[in-house]
Amino acid sequence: MGNCLFCKIIAGEIPSTKLYEDNEMLAFLDINPMSPVHFLVIPKKHISNLFEVDTEDAALLGRILNKAQELAKTNGCEEEGGRFIINTKSDGGQTVDHLHIHFLGGRKLGWPPG
Ligand code: 5GP
Ligand code: ZN
Repeated sequence: MGNCLFCKIIAGEIPSTKLYEDNEMLAFLDINPMSPVHFLVIPKKHISNLFEVDTEDAALLGRILNKAQELAKTNGCEEEGGRFIINTKSDGGQTVDHLHIHFLGGRKLGWPPG
């Protein structure tokens, strides 16, 4: 946790382009966008990945997902949609061990993922 990149972004030690912030979550642009719209929404509480979410976090996760859908809409993706992604651990391609929801939109995405 002490060395967590996203905890440093939350603390303001690493700059980010913020889309939304409150006392329990932060939404910011991905530094390496994979589509015209690519942002991340994270809890301020350090949770390593989706497997570490427990019952008490369920409502928080719901609010984060709700904010992600709101931001997807306000960033121009309501009509065409996009993809909400939670990469989890090594097989899922998770590179930052702080739970985050990606939203990708603004272009047609392929399926299945490689
Ligand atoms: P993961 O691969 O763990 O699902 O996603 C981590 C994401 O964090 C990647 O899409 C990567 O581009 C993004 N990322 C890594 N370092 C930084 C950073 O310093 N700032 C921002 N804004 N995004 C980052
Ligand atoms: Zn963290």
